[in-house]
Amino acid sequence: MSEAYERPNSLDTALELLARGNWTVIAGGTDVYPMATDAHAWGREGPQRLLDITNVDELQGIESQKDGHWIGSRVTWSDITRASLPSYFDGLRLAAKEVGGLQIQNRGTIAGNICNASPAADSVPPLLALDAMVEIAGGHGTRKLPLSQFIKGNRRTALDTGELVTGLFIPKRQSNSHATFLKLGARRYLVISIAMVAVTIDLDATDTIQDARVAIGACSEVACRLYGLEDALKGHLAQNDLAAELKTDMLMQLSPIDDIRADARYRLNAAEIIIRRALNDLRTGL
Ligand SMILES: Cc1cc2nc3c(=O)[nH]c(=O)nc-3n(C[C@H](O)[C@H](O)[C@H](O)COP(=O)(O)OP(=O)(O)OC[C@H]3O[C@@H](n4cnc5c(N)ncnc54)[C@H](O)[C@@H]3O)c2cc1C
Repeated sequence: MSEAYERPNSLDTALELLARGNWTVIAGGTDVYPMATDAHAWGREGPQRLLDITNVDELQGIESQKDGHWIGSRVTWSDITRASLPSYFDGLRLAAKEVGGLQIQNRGTIAGNICNASPAADSVPPLLALDAMVEIAGGHGTRKLPLSQFIKGNRRTALDTGELVTGLFIPKRQSNSHATFLKLGARRYLVISIAMVAVTIDLDATDTIQDARVAIGACSEVACRLYGLEDALKGHLAQNDLAAELKTDMLMQLSPIDDIRADARYRLNAAEIIIRRALNDLRTGL
């Protein structure tokens, strides 16, 4: 199917190859191969030169560092489910358990999910609610970008030619932080999201919300934070009726599309309902 395939065993070699040719990076291949098959079926050209990063040791692992956690770009959804991580990773963990089926979770990577930049990418809302940074390497060296600046649009990222994602960095939060994730699809499992929401709250010793981050996906070209709702949640006791803080105008920034899975009006309505449910879940789960 492809005219060239390389599987380097070091980051330097991967970057040298990337600098010299027009490669499609491939990790789990769970987006790349279905896209290639689709292209082939319609008589279009799919990716011709595959650069497989699954043998690059530097891209593997989850590291607890002084200021946060580093998640290598080979880390799969299953790795996240199994890892021992603080409670504020619960949103990402819940998302990991709902992506595709077990086979997809075992192969698909978190980095592949953000690089594919689908509006329905399940990792993006929980990672936005964790203030994730994306670590990028290329011939020029390395750089870091907030995830909110990395995803530029539907299937568009800030990656330049010759660059790849080496990992994600999640800044450390205080110990009394909690998170959740809710996804609505046309059925319970093995489904692409119609709408999804991730919430993270940081509490003080009296269980008052010091900081809140709410991110919603599949309801705009790029998943986004709801800053109005986040501000409204601050200062409330976590046991209060948090869902009552959501006002319809806080969703004005969303611009859902009509597609095969749902129309825009349904998506907007669903978004409001799942945000309320997520806030209730957080309150009752404390
Ligand atoms: C049956 C099925 C069910 C699915 N269900 C879901 C679901 O419920 N939710 C969901 O969000 N997704 C779902 N997906 C999509 C897919 O599994 C995920 O997006 C997965 O996380 C992609 O990771 P990957 O490692 O397989 O990416 P790949 O297919 O290897 O790559 C995806 C894209 O990212 C690029 N890329 C990968 N790694 C890097 C890197 N380190 N640096 C630069 N570019 C890179 C590739 O070039 C490609 O453009 C599903 C797919 C299938 C086939």
